[in-house]
Amino acid sequence: MTRKHSFNLTELVSDFNRLHILTMLYQGPTHGYQIINQYKHNFKKELSPSAVYPFLHQLEEKHYIKRTTTVNESKLRNTFELTPTGQALCRNLFRYFTEIHATAFKIMLQTCTHCNSQIYKGAHHETINGTKQPFCCIHCASTYKQTVHTQQQQTTTIQHTPSTSPDAFVDAKL
Ligand SMILES: [Zn+2]
Repeated sequence: MTRKHSFNLTELVSDFNRLHILTMLYQGPTHGYQIINQYKHNFKKELSPSAVYPFLHQLEEKHYIKRTTTVNESKLRNTFELTPTGQALCRNLFRYFTEIHATAFKIMLQTCTHCNSQIYKGAHHETINGTKQPFCCIHCASTYKQTVHTQQQQTTTIQHTPSTSPDAFVDAKL
């Protein structure tokens, strides 16, 4: 028997689907199919009814939502609405997810090695002395490289350290 050693994204996202369902409910009374359609619209992916209806039933059992059934053109239509307890649950959950999101966002932020400005997307990377470093723009990268180069030249005239990386050695010889 083989064991699964890795997660796929769908597995990890399953709880976010429930967050999505609660977010929809928080915005006002809704139907199961509306939740599914809105999900498709937002994420360009299908949300299986098996991920929606059993969860709605659980919420109903625990009195977080209440159901209103109406008949429309001889079709039964269920509308789900959060109870005050359900609204309180959502607010706590949103607070919690906002903190997780803020942490994830901070991790995604990079700082320019030269000017310290924060970069969220599209950092310019350069490998300096064997280390890949982020920069906000090519100008910062070239200024930083010049500074490092000058510092290395000054250092090598004072001491010869054999443990420096091969790049540093080549630079020093230039
Ligand atoms: Zn910069």
